[in-house]
Amino acid sequence: MNRLKNNFLSNMSHELRTPLIGILGYAEFLSTELKDKNLAEMANIIRNSGKRLNETLNNILDISRIESHKQKIDIKQLDLLRYLDEQIKLFKPVAENKNISLRLETNEKKLEAYVDEELFVSIITNLLSNALKYTVEGSVIINARKEDGKAILDVKDTGIGISEEFHEIIFEPFRQASEGFSRRFEGTGLGLTLVKKYIDLIGATISLESKLGRGSKFTLRFSVDKPVGEKLIATKW
Ligand code: ADP
Repeated sequence: MNRLKNNFLSNMSHELRTPLIGILGYAEFLSTELKDKNLAEMANIIRNSGKRLNETLNNILDISRIESHKQKIDIKQLDLLRYLDEQIKLFKPVAENKNISLRLETNEKKLEAYVDEELFVSIITNLLSNALKYTVEGSVIINARKEDGKAILDVKDTGIGISEEFHEIIFEPFRQASEGFSRRFEGTGLGLTLVKKYIDLIGATISLESKLGRGSKFTLRFSVDKPVGEKLIATKW
């Protein structure tokens, strides 16, 4: 049943994306062209809602692509520092907007590990975007080092933190530490599900240290030698 569902989702990709692109494109056009302020605001709401729907859809399709074994992976030895520098630069404006210090800390000149380039970038993008979203003041720091024959990255923030009872749940689809009426942050609850799947595909590991109100630290360990990807565990939707 799960396989049928995943195949259905990945085949539906085109049918779902095409109409959304039409909705997004024309809402964008209307929000800039409409002279009436109220109408322009309505078009803006359609555009923003469409964008969120598009992100959710992309995440669901990414997960089902992995589960129906259609995700291509190409594991190569890469210098992680180069990619981290690029990601930090991309997120700088978001951090500056919130007055949060964002930086890479490392004593290494190079930090080579075996990863798939696209999946690695997606993992870091998701973790940085969460760290910045859930931090109100202070810093977001990536610490990169080589230790015990592994390339280790800590993505550390001084944000709202995650209470211990949620440490495993947040890697499940649609699960969030604040759910229901008490929800304070927008999001799909799919980002960390994807991160965990990508980590498994690359043959790396992820762990979390966090306490409510005390910030969070996600630690990633990548193989410096050629790794063997772990067997994937099917998602319970
Ligand atoms: P979302 O789209 O809700 O951010 P994720 O799967 O990326 O979904 O994360 C799941 C939940 O984990 C979030 O809703 C949030 O409650 C919690 N979370 C993730 N990263 C952090 C972080 N850096 N600080 C605090 N909470 C976090």
